[in-house]
Amino acid sequence: MKTFLGILIFSIVCMAFTFSCKTQQPVDIHQTAITLDTHVDIGANYATEEMDPGIDNPRLRCDLTKMENGGVDGVFLAAYVGNRDDLSVEASQKAHETVMNKIEAMHRLTEQMYPDRSELAVSPDDIERIVKTGKRAIMIGIENGFPIGDNLSRVEEYYNLGVRYITLVHSQHNQICDSSGPDEPLHDGISDFGKQVVAEMNRLGIMCDVSHIAEKSFWDLIEISKAPILATHSGCAELNPHNRNLNDDQLRALAENGGVIQIVALGSFLKAEIPERREAVAALRKELELPGRREMFQMSEEERDALAPKQEEFVKRMEELDKTYPPTGLTDMVDHIDHAVKIAGINHVGIGTDFDGGGGIPGFNNHAEAKNMTDELIKRGYSAEDIYKIWGGNLLRVWRDVAKVAAEIQNQN
Ligand SMILES: [Zn+2]
Repeated sequence: MKTFLGILIFSIVCMAFTFSCKTQQPVDIHQTAITLDTHVDIGANYATEEMDPGIDNPRLRCDLTKMENGGVDGVFLAAYVGNRDDLSVEASQKAHETVMNKIEAMHRLTEQMYPDRSELAVSPDDIERIVKTGKRAIMIGIENGFPIGDNLSRVEEYYNLGVRYITLVHSQHNQICDSSGPDEPLHDGISDFGKQVVAEMNRLGIMCDVSHIAEKSFWDLIEISKAPILATHSGCAELNPHNRNLNDDQLRALAENGGVIQIVALGSFLKAEIPERREAVAALRKELELPGRREMFQMSEEERDALAPKQEEFVKRMEELDKTYPPTGLTDMVDHIDHAVKIAGINHVGIGTDFDGGGGIPGFNNHAEAKNMTDELIKRGYSAEDIYKIWGGNLLRVWRDVAKVAAEIQNQN
């Protein structure tokens, strides 16, 4: 009897074990990864009733709801400001005010509007802690160093407000360095003042972002920066020779520097539009008597409403056109990831969408679709370990290294 009971218990244990093995799910890579996006733009009225980042907002590609639904853990919101040829102190003062308003909006989002769903992160440790609570980590970047003006102390002022990267320049030259935008250089790389700005960023632990900078500025930065650098939203020039993209020499230098390139989700950076497609779209608009996108942007709400039936027809016909001339999509973005991995290595590639600043492609139109990226990476043979690195691990490493360098500099002084 005892033996029988023993056998029975043994059998039940075996069966339970087999059953539990069979039902054990494979690791959900997307769910277990810390998924970070290094570049999302925000508008002037962000985090207000008119532009609510808490709801599934049809006017935003990144909001808390889309992040939650798409399993995106953290995002660097960029306080963007442009500049023209006017590099005067007055102009930079105005830019400073714009940036301060946007930074205030990010604090409002995390501290007043949605403290239960989001929290400001100013370190990699913060991110890891916040992610564990189930909240979204919000980080602050500034896109364009122009608002610093000639006032170096602003860098520390920004740091104290939580800013952890500054894109040195935007599409026009500024007082810090040359941009990849204009044909003619202004400083021939990084200016003397720009070198002081970089040293100050190194001292404080603010990451230097090379997206938008001229190639000569890039090489200057590689030489002078004591800390690893990053490109928060760029592509590979080898696949599309756009002035915003990094060439293979730059990718190799970035790897040697310990930095990271965050691949952008902006169609025109990823692939040059084929002329046949451009012409076909123009012809379709003409046939439907539908004005161009820019023209429609300037119309009143009523005027646009009147065009709604035509617009609907346009969308339907575009689906047909997309079949003949496929638009730039997620697979093109992952081609850039593949290339960057091939040249710079798996430890130096990440993701920076540029959502709400021009980014968004079929397959990865907003943060709710982020899992498509993971699925495509799995399809291409990337391991869980690789995907963790691409989605956030590499960025966290770079950030930690930048903070370490800052601590060393401060210890020396
Ligand atoms: Zn940008």
